[in-house]
Amino acid sequence: MGNELAGKVAVVTGGASGLGSAMVERFVAEGARVVVGDLDADGGAAVVQRCGSNVLFQVTDVGEPDQISRLVDLAVERFGGLHIMCNNAGISGRMHKSLLHDDLADFHRVMSVNVLGVMAGTRFAGQYMAEHGGGSIINLSSVGGVQAGGGVMTYRASKAAVIHFTKSAAIELAQYEIRVNCIAPGNIPTDLLAKASTTMSPEKAERMTRVMRDMMNQDRPLPREGTPEDVAEAAVYFAGDRSRYLTGTVLTVDGGTTAGKPLRARRPDAAANGSAPASAGSS
Ligand code: NAD
Repeated sequence: MGNELAGKVAVVTGGASGLGSAMVERFVAEGARVVVGDLDADGGAAVVQRCGSNVLFQVTDVGEPDQISRLVDLAVERFGGLHIMCNNAGISGRMHKSLLHDDLADFHRVMSVNVLGVMAGTRFAGQYMAEHGGGSIINLSSVGGVQAGGGVMTYRASKAAVIHFTKSAAIELAQYEIRVNCIAPGNIPTDLLAKASTTMSPEKAERMTRVMRDMMNQDRPLPREGTPEDVAEAAVYFAGDRSRYLTGTVLTVDGGTTAGKPLRARRPDAAANGSAPASAGSS
């Protein structure tokens, strides 16, 4: 890869799998050293094994602000500073048939991971960066936080909150040369949806995940499905100097989903490319 993040130190929460682990690998490939905080100790160990001594792993629950504070301390103690904070850890919450069936039982947990975790990560990293020449903070929202829609209401609300918080924090922290931006991914195959469906039988959960993916595929103008590496690319951009005049922004990494509905007819070769059928997407 390159040298875009040479000499930089990053913290990535939720870096043991999915988008987070792709970010860790890209950051390291660009010359950074990374502290990963995640609940998943096995996944964390696997990331360390893949990336070597440039990555440290610490079991962390981002719903507990003290544990995020410890990640910042670890980065400073072991790698000598902190330039990039990626508040990526998130959960989707339980799937319900509709809002009217939602018992809101997981509201506090979803909010504490998705919102409190992001706010605390921004605060602790910001406190260090404010005293040490600034930095870049990257918060993970979602197309679900940009666009209204049915289902996973708590998740949508949490991800919308991340956007508003990010913009507000960007205004406050700009005076310290700290940039705060959001990435809003859409429909990238990871374990996020599967983990959400835990109250269903494995067969039903798999079926539902497939149906949701099909629906999302049909709502996306770009034919191909996104990958964790596509999101990691956006994270490298925000982390490095190429985005030095950007703060308070939301970058959708969603194949155009939030731009609008795809055209009814796609080029035949695009349809053959494992994407939505030519008639899909106008509903
Ligand atoms: P994922 O489930 O593969 O990864 C999430 C990681 O966060 C896991 O390693 C998990 O162990 C960790 N995590 C969960 N709760 C935690 C906690 N309390 N403390 C620390 N770590 C915790 O999902 P992903 O798709 O990689 O999601 C990453 C982020 O991107 C999330 O914030 C998610 O909401 C967001 N996002 C993903 C998509 C997508 O299409 N995959 C779309 C929109 C937004």
